Parts: sequence; structure tokens; C-alpha cells
Amino acid sequence: MALIPKFIYKVKIKMKLVALTFDDGPHPLFTNELLDLFKENGIKATFFVTGKNIVKHKKIVRRMIKEGHELGNHSYSHWNLIFKKKSMIREEIEKTDRLLRELGVKDDIHFRPPFGRFLFAALSILASLNKKIIMWNVPTKDYKENDPKVILKRIYKRIKPGSIIVLHDSGIERSGKKIDRQATIDAVKMLIDELPKRGYEFRTVSELINN
Ligand SMILES: [Zn+2]
Repeated sequence: MALIPKFIYKVKIKMKLVALTFDDGPHPLFTNELLDLFKENGIKATFFVTGKNIVKHKKIVRRMIKEGHELGNHSYSHWNLIFKKKSMIREEIEKTDRLLRELGVKDDIHFRPPFGRFLFAALSILASLNKKIIMWNVPTKDYKENDPKVILKRIYKRIKPGSIIVLHDSGIERSGKKIDRQATIDAVKMLIDELPKRGYEFRTVSELINN
């Protein structure tokens, strides 16, 4: 078995297919809004959820599965795993996998590290769990942006066939400030209107990989 897991930033394809990915959820308000939007438009996305948010919002995870979205593992606690013990990292990943399986996820569960940081200590763990690590090639910094147009500009600048776009449907609450992802939602609304006009179609990450 390989000791280094596979890192995926984008998929090399000619077809104009891209993956929308959302980290840190589910969130009771913003995730459901996205799911409504995707349902209306027949779009499938990939959600890298944290275990602690799965526990709080099982109903939303069930809805994601039912509506055909892909679920990924974003650790249990969303700690920076770089400085954690190996046993703790393994537990962070396995606990989240178990929750997703309990709720009905049948496919491979890919992993996206919290903060997108490389997990030097965790590489062999991820390899032994047979995980693909899904990164991105279209960063949006949407978690610190109030203007959807700025988010869109960043996407249009980088997007190409096989792109993986990273967005956030939830986040970490800092100093009592409520999580606000309205700019992300608004950007996604415009994006799913505009990208098909440019010939793009949306796929889940696994659909991109297996294309
Ligand atoms: Zn995150």
C-alpha cells in the first residue's frame, strides 16, 4: 500500500466540467439554501462536512445524500491537525467516516484537511485509510468576503476544465460573531447562471475523477 496518499488539486480533462465544493458545514440556514438552489437547477455538489456539524445537523446530511450530493470528510473538530498526535488524527478522521456511514454514505469518502494544511504526520494514516486528499485549484477566500462579485471574479480568473472550486457553507464562529455566508450563496446563484453560458457543467468531485 502506498504510504503517500493521493492529492488532487484539479482533474486533467478537456471537457468543461467543474466541481463546486463546500467546506465546514452543514449549516442549518446556508446549507439548506444551497441545497434548494441545486435542486431547482439539477446541480450536484460536494460537501466536506465536519463530524461535529454532522452530529448537530443529521437531517441536512440525510437530505444531501438523498439529493445525490457527494459527502466528504473534513475531520471531526476542524482542528489544525498538523500538531496533533497520530492517534488523535486517526480518530478525527475515522469518527467522521463512521457518522457518514451511519447516515447512509456508501461511496468512497474523500478527505479535505482543515485549513487546507498538509498533514505531515497524517499522510501515512490517510494512505492506510485509502483516502484521496481533495484540495482545489480555484480558491475564493469567500470566508472573509462580503461582496459576491469579488468571489466571482476570483473564480472566473482561475476556472478551467477539471477545476475544483472551494467555497464555504459554514465556518468557525469567532468572538461571538455569527457565521454569515450570504455572499457565498449570492455568488453561487450568479455562478450557476453564468457558467453554463460559458459551456461549463457541474459535477461532484468523484464524478470529475472518474470521468
Ligand atoms: Zn474548513
